[in-house]
Amino acid sequence: MFLIPEDFSMLDGMEKFIISHEMGHAFFSQYGIAAWPYESLSHQKKELISTDEEIGADTFAIHTLRHIYIKHNDQKRLMWGACMFFLVFSLFEKEGLISIPTNHPSSKDRYHYLMDYIHDVDSALYEQYLRYEKGVLGFWVAVHDTVKKSVLRYKKKRQNYLAELGQIETYAKHYLRCSEEGEE
Ligand SMILES: [Zn+2]
Repeated sequence: MFLIPEDFSMLDGMEKFIISHEMGHAFFSQYGIAAWPYESLSHQKKELISTDEEIGADTFAIHTLRHIYIKHNDQKRLMWGACMFFLVFSLFEKEGLISIPTNHPSSKDRYHYLMDYIHDVDSALYEQYLRYEKGVLGFWVAVHDTVKKSVLRYKKKRQNYLAELGQIETYAKHYLRCSEEGEE
């Protein structure tokens, strides 16, 4: 089953993508432009990444992963790690299980432009990733109801926990006020 790969390249891809995305922001703040010499991108895509820093940082990150993959091409799922992450999050967004972020593009958009990037630089790898996508979507159909129930249960627990924390905070403030008044 490909969801549990025989190597760590998918997990590595997720971790390295997150770190490289932040490095993309650092690059942007240093040079004022999110563009890096992305030799194979169209002019239109270069325009897009130079006007939206988040897309620029994502492109920086996937480009970094690609360069790692060129040197270590046994790590087949390195770039897929980032895509898988956003594919799963986009399914959760679609179901309303998580909210669409306001400070980053939606997971659905991120998934699509990352896959687009891979399509442009390595069409054979892209085809392979489409097969993974098909597998994830099939798996999602099978586990959808169970996952939805678990996430809703978890969200409810979290809400209760936060409400309890709020109550404790109110008691603590009340207690402190009383003890201060007692001291006077
Ligand atoms: Zn960012």
